Amino acid sequence: MNDSKEYCPYCNAALQGEPIPKELQKAYGTSHFTRKIGITSVKVDSIHKWQCPDCQNKWDRVYQLK
Ligand SMILES: [Zn+2]
Repeated sequence: MNDSKEYCPYCNAALQGEPIPKELQKAYGTSHFTRKIGITSVKVDSIHKWQCPDCQNKWDRVYQLK
């Protein structure tokens, strides 16, 4: 499980949200919800950028190491 903590690259706010219930962790593929906002695009048809809920800055999805 990916339970590593995430921080905003701009304001360093903790982006890790509430813990996901054990029985749902497999479906989500992670152990905690995230506070960051996924920015989608019709072209890409998936999340391609993240936005910080605190400072509103955006960064590319590739920034996230998985
Ligand atoms: Zn931020």
